[in-house]
Amino acid sequence: MSLNPWSSDAVTDYDYVFKEFGLSKFSEKISKELDHLLFRRGIVIAHRDFQRVFDRIALKKPFINITGIASSGHYHFGHKVDLDLFIFFKKCGARNYFSISDIDAYTSRPDDKVSSLDDSKQFAVDNVADALALGLSPKDMYVQSNKETRFYEFAFELSKKITHSTFKAIYGHIDLGKVSANLLQYADIMHGQLKEYEGSMPSITGIGLDQDPHARATRDVARRLPYNLELPSFIYFRHQSGLQEGSKMSASQPNTAIFLSDSPKAASKKIMGCFTGGRETAEKQKKLGGRPEICKKYELDLFHLEDDKKLKDIHDKCKAGERLCGQCKQLTCEYVCKFLESHQKKKKKNMKKAEKVVFG
Ligand code: SF4
Repeated sequence: MSLNPWSSDAVTDYDYVFKEFGLSKFSEKISKELDHLLFRRGIVIAHRDFQRVFDRIALKKPFINITGIASSGHYHFGHKVDLDLFIFFKKCGARNYFSISDIDAYTSRPDDKVSSLDDSKQFAVDNVADALALGLSPKDMYVQSNKETRFYEFAFELSKKITHSTFKAIYGHIDLGKVSANLLQYADIMHGQLKEYEGSMPSITGIGLDQDPHARATRDVARRLPYNLELPSFIYFRHQSGLQEGSKMSASQPNTAIFLSDSPKAASKKIMGCFTGGRETAEKQKKLGGRPEICKKYELDLFHLEDDKKLKDIHDKCKAGERLCGQCKQLTCEYVCKFLESHQKKKKKNMKKAEKVVFG
């Protein structure tokens, strides 16, 4: 089994991946102390070298918080998880680097997805406006195409630290667009530690398990650089799967995802039509209870409903057969629509600011 960072297939065999790629599971103690729903609910499942970042948080010392999302489409609730995690570390006192990766989006995606650099810049404006509405400020983020010269010097310098055969061994192929996108991603993760930025210090990047090849390659390159960088740390979260039975929430399959730009009506329609763990008849469900463990609506709650008590109530009433799926979905529609209405108002106010971030 290999992990493919460009695939939309969800990883299912977690134990195999832990063993094969040498990841550490999160201890209950750390999950409890971080006290965020992504940790409490087992959505963040593994790490590479998180302890050094955890120690900095405990000592109230700075660390680098770096994440990037390719601007290849509109953000959906799956992307919101990356942003929620980024905002959590921002609140822990991090130095923040949120990369809106427009060059990466264009060079690593096929033309039918992102047809020009202009396209990815237009998506970048939309993505930045979402990020601002969710609580980031312009100084927490940058757009790759608008980044200073030192960053690009560094990205080219990195190209001498990874060989053709290493690249092929990690990714399974050599595709020039993806090679250039990868160099930018390594630069995204490590440039904050250069003396022109924060200087050497621990850094944290939250990624999906399928992105682990990037993590391994980045750490390998970091060891070869002449800058005494701390090895970048990574935490891994489970991808939220699509609303239908099958793969993860994906912008390329619009009915599997709720987009932050969906109207409340469109989002409700998707929730009401999603795959659930309900039984064939109401009688059966009352007698046997539902199956939240396979229900996509419950999964949406697990990732996004902030109130632990309400989540437990949904789970327990489902298992006991005390609530049927139609009524249960209505509860989710209510909080999702409320969120979308408020988010879209904030986003609208931030559009001008977002254009300035992207085009200067
Ligand atoms: Fe899912 Fe709710 Fe139905 Fe249970 S009752 S299967 S949680 S929609």
